[in-house]
Amino acid sequence: MLKPLRRIVEEVENASNTQEALETLVQQTRQSLECDSCSVFVVDFKTHEFVLRATDGSHSTDILGLRLGPEEGLLGFIAEHEKPLNIADVRTHPSFIDLSAMGGGEFNALLGVPIINNRRLLGILTVESKDARRFAEDEEAFLVTLATQIATVMERAETDQIIAHQNSDAIHDDTVLLGIPSGKGVGIGRGVVVFPPADLDAVPEKTIDDIPAEIEILKVAVQKTRDIIQDLGNKLAQSLPQAEQDLFNAYLRLLDNESLEKDIIDEIKCGQWAQGALKIAIRKRMRQFEEMDDTYLRERAADIKDLGQRVLARLQLHEINDIDYPEKTVLMGEELSATDLARVPKGKLVGIAMAKGSANSHVAILARALGVAAATGVSNLPYTHLEKKELIIDGYYGHVYIEPTPALRQEFLLLAEEEKQLDESLNELRDLPAETPDGHRVNLYVNLGLDADASSALAVGTEGVGLFRSEVPFMTREQFPSEEEQRIIYRQVLNAFSPRPVVMRTLDIGGDKSLPYFPIEEENPFLGWRGIRISLDHPDIFLAQARAMMRANRGLENLSILLPMISNVYEVDDAKAMLLQAHAEVNEEQPTVLPSIGIMIEVPSAVYLARSLARRVDFLSVGSNDLTQYILAVDRNNAQVSGLYDAYHPAVLHALHQVVRAAKSENTPVSICGELAGDPVVTTLLIAMGFDSLSASPASFARVKWVARRFPHYQMRAILKEVMKYDDPAEIRTYLEETLELAGLGGLIRAGR
Ligand code: PEP
Ligand code: MG
Repeated sequence: MLKPLRRIVEEVENASNTQEALETLVQQTRQSLECDSCSVFVVDFKTHEFVLRATDGSHSTDILGLRLGPEEGLLGFIAEHEKPLNIADVRTHPSFIDLSAMGGGEFNALLGVPIINNRRLLGILTVESKDARRFAEDEEAFLVTLATQIATVMERAETDQIIAHQNSDAIHDDTVLLGIPSGKGVGIGRGVVVFPPADLDAVPEKTIDDIPAEIEILKVAVQKTRDIIQDLGNKLAQSLPQAEQDLFNAYLRLLDNESLEKDIIDEIKCGQWAQGALKIAIRKRMRQFEEMDDTYLRERAADIKDLGQRVLARLQLHEINDIDYPEKTVLMGEELSATDLARVPKGKLVGIAMAKGSANSHVAILARALGVAAATGVSNLPYTHLEKKELIIDGYYGHVYIEPTPALRQEFLLLAEEEKQLDESLNELRDLPAETPDGHRVNLYVNLGLDADASSALAVGTEGVGLFRSEVPFMTREQFPSEEEQRIIYRQVLNAFSPRPVVMRTLDIGGDKSLPYFPIEEENPFLGWRGIRISLDHPDIFLAQARAMMRANRGLENLSILLPMISNVYEVDDAKAMLLQAHAEVNEEQPTVLPSIGIMIEVPSAVYLARSLARRVDFLSVGSNDLTQYILAVDRNNAQVSGLYDAYHPAVLHALHQVVRAAKSENTPVSICGELAGDPVVTTLLIAMGFDSLSASPASFARVKWVARRFPHYQMRAILKEVMKYDDPAEIRTYLEETLELAGLGGLIRAGR
């Protein structure tokens, strides 16, 4: 059964549109199970009714579009119980309703399975038989397995509904798409879609006016691709085995085959831009191959796709620089990168939304650093259709609204205005210390990364930089920056903040931070070659970075060096030895001070070893983003498990407290620089625990200071004592939010005042 199953899934995924995918699904399933009919119902995202979208076999097509209430009939029964229903005679079931008057065919037996993704019911797949027999166990297992693998097409069906709803002439009400809150604030702007380069499936459909120009663009790209393949084939002719050489020839034949180019041009003539036309034509061609009986020819579908990607890569070569960013840009895509955000001209980015990722993905952290509203993990985000559309991102709740009604837009404009007023009123705190009314003071620093230009950080009145993520300048280049290039970058930062202290973290790549020129292929990147592990294995990179930092520090002397991802004492000893070596080298050239050296506490072993580690260094800094992921065993980047990623988890809070106690007992200063430090809801806890410094993004800086100055230290300690009794993160959140509401700081937890 595995082969037909794979084949159905593959064909469904490669269909050129959703309707075709659903029709393929029911036809192929009916054939495989040799039953009388097969149907798929899709849940209407607004009314929650079941809509019959495709059927094959004994039902009349008149019945297509039939709607059943969420609790109606056998479908309602399956939905309620969230499990398959396998029944020999439907008439004996109390929930049965007879649909024959509406075009439903005669049948006795039914097997229906729910299609569920991320705990959400997306639809129901049914097969029916005229024979009054229970479907066999392996048939049931087949349908259940199939249902788990067609979530993507069901999400596409949902996306289509959303788009149809937006485009309908009827007065539309507001549709909200739900994601993960990832950057507080409200962003109202126009959509700009960013799609991964050379990914045909992600290409948005766009209409164009200048058809001849678009045809020309295509022809140039096809010719260029042909030249490259020809060239590559010639170069490798001697060394390639015959089978690979044949592939080059096959590609060339496909490209020379005028009909493929003609198909693409026909799509352009219908008003599609070249990339969209290429996607549509390639998908059609792939289907033709997939339907062939000959296995060899069927497998050529993959070659067609590969070829399409190559042409696409040519088409996309120059367009990145041509993006026209509106004054208020909402950036969207399957998954955005730091570089995508960096490309938006300063001041134009108001929001981001993406289908993947989660609140602690690095791109979300960068969005927060820029003070931009963000929603991640919006799985049904129809981004390919949202270019230039008006959008609202409610970053407090992770909600996305498409083409809002005037009333909704007005409401959000008002909230945005209130936010602005709140920010302006907080400006008054700019030059005041983060000091409680009863005189307990903490240092408030900023985190710097993408927005490395110091002006916004200085504008909020920071006392220094608690975390400079040095990998960001590495990520936006095409090769490792030279030692001198690095020195210039670090010097600019140290200079801008002098005499304030600046903590620079050594290169922290790996996990979800990759360098295009230093690929790391791993099964399990977050448990793999990351941070200090790479630095220790590459003294060339590490020593150059350390020397660059120390040289940059000459005459300013406000630098501290921070080591990421420490999990044992040997790493600290080895890294310190290398830092001393770097220092000896630069000191020989010219007397240079040795900066203070600290480590990040971001893995559980470091929590347990905190005292031994504290003894070895000048300061500790807790990276709560990674610490949360490793304590809770939840990938910070995975939307699927984002509900489990919660820094308010008592296990995380107890770990933080333990680190602070360990540091205090060794008289070692301790700070926190993960996102938690910028969350005003927990400021009282962090100060009460005894952190000496909090380092947050400039955007959340003033809010944290507001809380720090509002609550006396004895009250913070009482709050901490209370919170440490709870074992449920939700209770902790509710308690802390209520505390803020009662103190008149409700504007910190939702939009508006
Ligand atoms: C952290 O893990 O909390 C941290 C500050 O480092 P990053 O988010 O860059 O991994
Ligand atoms: Mg980290």
